[in-house]
Amino acid sequence: MSDRVSRRRFLGTVAATGAATSAAAQTHSPARHGDTPVERVATNCEMCFWRCGVLASVVDGRVVRVEGNPDHPLTKGRLCARGNAGVDLLYDPDRLKYPMRRRGGRKSPLERVSWDEALTLLADRLNAIKKEHGPEAVALFPHGISSSFMTTVLKAYGTPHVVMPSFAQCRGPRDVGYQLTFGQGLGSPEPLDIDGAKLIVLVGSHIGENVFTSQVTQFADGLANGARLVVVDPRFSTAASKADWWLPIRPATDIALLLAWAHVLVAEGLYDKEYVAKYANGFDALAAHVKDTTPEWAAPITDLPADLIRETARAMGAAKPAVLVHPGRHTTWYGDDTQRARAMAILTALLGSYGRKGGINLPTPIPTGQFDVPPFPKPARGRADGAGGRFPFGSHEEGVTNGMVEATLSGQPYPIKAWIAWGQNVLESIPQPQLTRKAIEALDLFVVVDVLPVEMTELADLVLPECTYLERYDAPMVAGGVKQPFISVRFPAVEPLHESKPGWWIAKSLAGKLGLDAYLPWATPEEHLAKTIEPMGISMVELRNCGAMPLPGKPFLEDREADGPFKFKTPSGKIELHSQALADRGLDPLPRYVEHERPPSGWFRLVYGRVPVHSFGRTQNNATLHGLTAENEVWLHTGPAKELGLSDGDRVVLENQDGVKSDPVRVKVTEEIRGDAAYLAHGFGQRAKALRLANRSGISDTALMSRVKVDPVMGGTGMRVNVVRPVKA
Ligand code: SF4
Repeated sequence: MSDRVSRRRFLGTVAATGAATSAAAQTHSPARHGDTPVERVATNCEMCFWRCGVLASVVDGRVVRVEGNPDHPLTKGRLCARGNAGVDLLYDPDRLKYPMRRRGGRKSPLERVSWDEALTLLADRLNAIKKEHGPEAVALFPHGISSSFMTTVLKAYGTPHVVMPSFAQCRGPRDVGYQLTFGQGLGSPEPLDIDGAKLIVLVGSHIGENVFTSQVTQFADGLANGARLVVVDPRFSTAASKADWWLPIRPATDIALLLAWAHVLVAEGLYDKEYVAKYANGFDALAAHVKDTTPEWAAPITDLPADLIRETARAMGAAKPAVLVHPGRHTTWYGDDTQRARAMAILTALLGSYGRKGGINLPTPIPTGQFDVPPFPKPARGRADGAGGRFPFGSHEEGVTNGMVEATLSGQPYPIKAWIAWGQNVLESIPQPQLTRKAIEALDLFVVVDVLPVEMTELADLVLPECTYLERYDAPMVAGGVKQPFISVRFPAVEPLHESKPGWWIAKSLAGKLGLDAYLPWATPEEHLAKTIEPMGISMVELRNCGAMPLPGKPFLEDREADGPFKFKTPSGKIELHSQALADRGLDPLPRYVEHERPPSGWFRLVYGRVPVHSFGRTQNNATLHGLTAENEVWLHTGPAKELGLSDGDRVVLENQDGVKSDPVRVKVTEEIRGDAAYLAHGFGQRAKALRLANRSGISDTALMSRVKVDPVMGGTGMRVNVVRPVKA
């Protein structure tokens, strides 16, 4: 299936679809614009959360162009289509322009108010809620680095409830699974030596459609260097088209495949014996656990030939330790996701790939300067969202969003009265939007902080307009995880437009009104930055000039062991193949395959992914990107489509198992998906009247997720558990 020529063209293909353009092609913008000098500001992108290095060209106080910053140690001058379209966000005519409040309840119109009135109102309401219901009755739903100072303010106010969809609806199971195994989660950007791998294994990860410039570049470089590629995906994704082996697995059976691979490695002695003996605990229990999970056992479960399972396991054994089993990013699929992540981590350990070249590298601890601040008050009551309680490995730092929705609806264990949603649309980022909407309606106070008038602003009591990433400072990114650690800083290219304000200013102003200034004891973000870099020995001037600077790293075990024996941050100090921490909480200490319900005849499991020119919903109103891809389409296999009398381009309504119906959507009839699944790209179909381009363009997969399966380990929501059937529109 592989083709070296087409692999070498991969990056070109990706560039054509918007993934990455080369630094060389981008760094020649003129230093003058006619007679006017062009100022170049080094900053970083936020069209998604990878934060690629950007140079913004500013003429007469207006950003005329953004291009890749070749000095950025990770992204090296590359921007994707979304990054290149950042100027359209800055000058989007639909932006939120000034603070607004409702005076007469949710049915009354939003009215323009001053910042002072808006923040005084917010502080007064928060103080009143604290007095009557306790500070724990308030929850912050943040996304993005600009919310970090607000997180500090809310913790100082006294609530433990910082709840993030990026954990419970995205990478939470992965980080918990790897934390339990290796003592450390993965974070972002992920510590992966992709370009050093001899074999890359993607399980449901569709690099190239999911675009982070440096990751796509490293993936293309790895393939160009001769790495072989295994892709496990019910859909023939862009990555699958480059694969040596494509495994079109039956959805929801990945754990069976992973256990069968582990079986082959153990039974045939292909695992890294020396590494496992030196670094891992629990091998005997694992060997007994996978004794019977043969490829022949997994074949009817996964719908994959046993020979193919065995052949791919042997290829991994031959390429070890330089095998990158990509841990994925969006991992909340079926509700047993932490266990699937554990199975992937165990496979990585058997291959001796953790802390080794071509595998997962070790994060380097980077010291940062800290201000002397008071400790946060200890909340009087336990968490309401279940983190650390009914979800024993739910994160205390990142919370459980769906647990918070439930607590708000039930009033248990105590009433929740206010939410602050920052930088994301909770009606799209959290499944079961019917419940999220009801929960919002039950609140006394719902505050939205955003750049654009996303759907949830229609429900908000108070709307605060944040400025875009090109108009603000943010807390610096100190990336110790990647092979070449670095610091990068978002410097403002221009002054905020309209009456919008940076996140740090909003947080600091609110802290002032709440009497919490001691927690943000700096006058300007430059002062905060100077403190942060104090122990790094780098110059502020150089950092401002370059926007990002490399820091020393020790990414591999061999580097660390030069300083003495390496200890993993697990309770045993070793890799935990068998997890006592899980066993102690009555959870499976080794991952077990449990059968999931299959779609009934005539129904399709709803799976979802991404298109390279959009970051979920946040870029849908961008004029350039909307012009490139305005709506999504539903993929159906040729066979069932024919049985249903559907042709390519027909429009259908999707109806789910609970009778929820979508708007009409175009059908893509293709051989490139299994017959039991239907695929949609996520982020489309927003219903926000004030977003003139995005409103009702395509359909929302989230709206069809009226059912979830909750992960008992960390509380996240498995979202590939809904089935749909097409009805001709
Ligand atoms: S991957 Fe693209 S959108 Fe994301 S930060 Fe980089 S350039 Fe921006």
